[in-house]
Amino acid sequence: MSLLPHNAFYNASRYRNSNSIKLAGLTGGDLDIRGDSDGDTHTQTTAPTHPAISTTTATRSLSSVSSTPPPDFSSSPRTIPIRRNNRLLRNYQLSPANLRFCCSGHIVTSKDNPIPFICSIFLVLAIPAVFFGRIGVDLWYTLSPAVPIIAAYLTLLVWCSMFKTAFADPGVLPVDIDKNAVDTFPRDVSLRHTHFLSLKYCETCHIYRPPRASHCRLCNSCVDGIDHHCSFLNICIGRRNYPSFLTFCGLTVVTLAYYTAFAAVHLYQLTQDTRVSTSQSFGGALRQDPASAVVFVVAILFLIPLAFLLAYHARLTLINSTTIEQLREKAVDRARKDGELGGGGENPFVGDDSNPFSLGPVANVQWMAFRPGSNYSHARFSAVAQRDARRGGGGV
Ligand SMILES: [Zn+2]
Ligand SMILES: [Zn+2]
Repeated sequence: MSLLPHNAFYNASRYRNSNSIKLAGLTGGDLDIRGDSDGDTHTQTTAPTHPAISTTTATRSLSSVSSTPPPDFSSSPRTIPIRRNNRLLRNYQLSPANLRFCCSGHIVTSKDNPIPFICSIFLVLAIPAVFFGRIGVDLWYTLSPAVPIIAAYLTLLVWCSMFKTAFADPGVLPVDIDKNAVDTFPRDVSLRHTHFLSLKYCETCHIYRPPRASHCRLCNSCVDGIDHHCSFLNICIGRRNYPSFLTFCGLTVVTLAYYTAFAAVHLYQLTQDTRVSTSQSFGGALRQDPASAVVFVVAILFLIPLAFLLAYHARLTLINSTTIEQLREKAVDRARKDGELGGGGENPFVGDDSNPFSLGPVANVQWMAFRPGSNYSHARFSAVAQRDARRGGGGV
C-alpha cells in the first residue's frame, strides 16, 4: 500500500536534468537550495506533489526566520480518510517508527530501553519530595513561607518542561516520500552559493533527508533538526523539542542550585537549634536531619554535570549548531588530519568549514527561542490518516 504523504510539506522536487533540490521549511529556517552545475542564480518552478502545494518558488533567505507550515490536506478532495474495520486510522497507527504512542498519538516516546527515563522520573520526584518533606516544612516556619513556595514553583516548571520535551514529537519526518527513487546516491546542493550540502537518501525512511536531519537508529526514523537521542528522556531532541529541552536544562540547574543553597541553610539552622541544646556541632545536625545532607549532596552531584551540559548547549545555540554536527565536524577534521579525506569527503559543509546556518549570535538565540517551525509537526501522529484518492482503492 502506498500512502500519500499528506502531511508532508517536504516539497522536494528533483529535476531530472539537474542536481537541484527544493526544500521548504525543513531546515529550521527557510532555505532555497539550487544546485545547478553552472551555479547561475535563477528561479525554478517546483513540480508540486499535490495541488495544495504552492507552485511559487520565491527566493528565500536564510536570514529570514519565517517558516512555512505544512499544508493541511485534510479538507482536500484528493485525499480520503483511511479506515480499518470501519474505524478511522490515525497516522501513528501506520507509523513504522520505533515509537510508542499514547492518547491517540498526542504522547510520543521511544521504544528504546526505558530504564534511564524511569530513573530520571524517579529523581525529579524523589529529590523534591525529600526537600519539601524535611527542609521546606522547617524553612516555612523558621525562615519564610516564600522559600518552599518558590521551590514548588520551580519544581513545577521543571516537571512541565521535562514532560513537554519527553513526550512531544521531536520532528519526525514523514516516510515513503521518495519510495521509488531512481537512484539513492547523495545529492550535492549549493547553499548561498558558498556552501555545498550533501543530502543523503535514507534507505529506511525512503526520503532524501533535508539538511540538519538525521536518522535515529533507536527511534528508527529521520528527525528534523536532530541534536541527539536523549536516553534520559527516552526521545530524540530535535527541532520541535529542543527549546523545551534547553528550558528543562536551565530550570533544573536553577532548581538544584536553589535546593542546594537552602539545604545548606537548613543544616546551618540545625547547628543553631535551641530546641536540642544551645548549639550543636555540624555532625550533630547531620544526625538530627540526614535528609538535608542527602539533598545537599545529591543536588550538587547532578548540578555540576547539568551546568556543563547547559553551558555546552548555550554555546551550540550561539553558533547555531547541534551536537551531531559538532561530532561530525570533529570526525571530518580527524579524518583530514589522518589523510583519509581529500577536499571535503563526508563533510556536510563541503568547500567551506564555516556554518552556513549561523545568523550571528543574537539572531541565533532569537531563532532558537522564537522559531516558528517549532509548533507544527511533520508527522502529525494524532491526525486522521489520509490516502491519495488518485491512486484508487477504498482504504486499508
Ligand atoms: Zn530515516
Ligand atoms: Zn531517537
